[in-house]
Amino acid sequence: MKDRLGREIHYMRISVTDRCNLRCRYCMPDSPCFLPEAELLSYEELLRICACAVKLGINCFKITGGEPLVRPGLLPFLKALKSMEGVRQVTLTTNGLLLGNLLSGLCEIGIDGLNISLDTLDSQQYTLLTGGGTLEPVLQNLKAAVASPIPVKLNGVLLPETVTQILPLAALAEQMAIDVRFIEIMPVGYGKGIVPVPSSQALQMLQNVYPDLTPCAAKRGNGPAYYWESSRLKGKLGLIDAVSNRFCEQCNRVRLTCTGYLKPCLCFESGIDLKEFLAGGEQELLEKMRTAIWDKPISHCFSQPENMTETHMMSQIGG
Ligand code: SAM
Ligand code: SF4
Repeated sequence: MKDRLGREIHYMRISVTDRCNLRCRYCMPDSPCFLPEAELLSYEELLRICACAVKLGINCFKITGGEPLVRPGLLPFLKALKSMEGVRQVTLTTNGLLLGNLLSGLCEIGIDGLNISLDTLDSQQYTLLTGGGTLEPVLQNLKAAVASPIPVKLNGVLLPETVTQILPLAALAEQMAIDVRFIEIMPVGYGKGIVPVPSSQALQMLQNVYPDLTPCAAKRGNGPAYYWESSRLKGKLGLIDAVSNRFCEQCNRVRLTCTGYLKPCLCFESGIDLKEFLAGGEQELLEKMRTAIWDKPISHCFSQPENMTETHMMSQIGG
């Protein structure tokens, strides 16, 4: 469906849990207070909301969290969503730690894409940044995922201390067919206190090393990333500059939290708690969703953080 500004909304990010097996310092505190499991929407409830979303024209779903792979029973849910009539694409974003056990199942389901979040290839820095994570299994799982039929993207958040990791991460796209994307830190949750590294700085560094870097002509993916290619790269390099380049006119997405809160914009608390309408009929649920999507805010306000009303952590919203 279109929102009141005529933007076609066809993409929903669904957080299936607020829990995570890492504590990335820009995303979560060391000792988070997780929701009681009873407060999470059941998979059956999530599927009912997805069925309504499809009726409103949303056909691409990104499953996120917290860490989605820590929630038991994820594969049957993904399978049911993949086989729902009208669903075009189901993708997943993960820190990659638990991917090894689930990769073959994801291949069987025919998942349409995997985003693996990785900000550094330095194992000590990884442990520091993630609050105790171990890099080696992530790298193993990343390689296995790239060798599988599933298209894989790597997402690295640009942080002052990981600027030195931009080139090593980009070099992964020399070795394997993977899109490596650099994301500006957004002032949401724990991202608020971090000095942003502009994507232009990353681009400059990449252009110095890959002088033939050229913008890709064809649009790739559903998101705001723009991509670059070089004869030296098997994959593409991508930049997501949500902060330095406001791309809200092209926004195509809404978010659903793990408790069933439908959020039309990352910056604002506004939205609707769908949980209370799950007991009623589909018509009411559809109407509530339609109204919330129609009223999607014009744009984010990252450059005026005092206007932000969102107070949740990124792990609760789903990134
Ligand atoms: N745990 C999964 C993962 O790490 O991919 C899924 C959830 S995580 C919240 C989704 C994405 O949001 C990750 O790529 C993470 O790096 C990114 N993220 C978290 N906080 C952010 C922030 N303040 N600004 C930009 N990206 C952020
Ligand atoms: Fe967990 Fe992902 Fe947040 Fe890191 S970015 S703490 S992996 S939810």
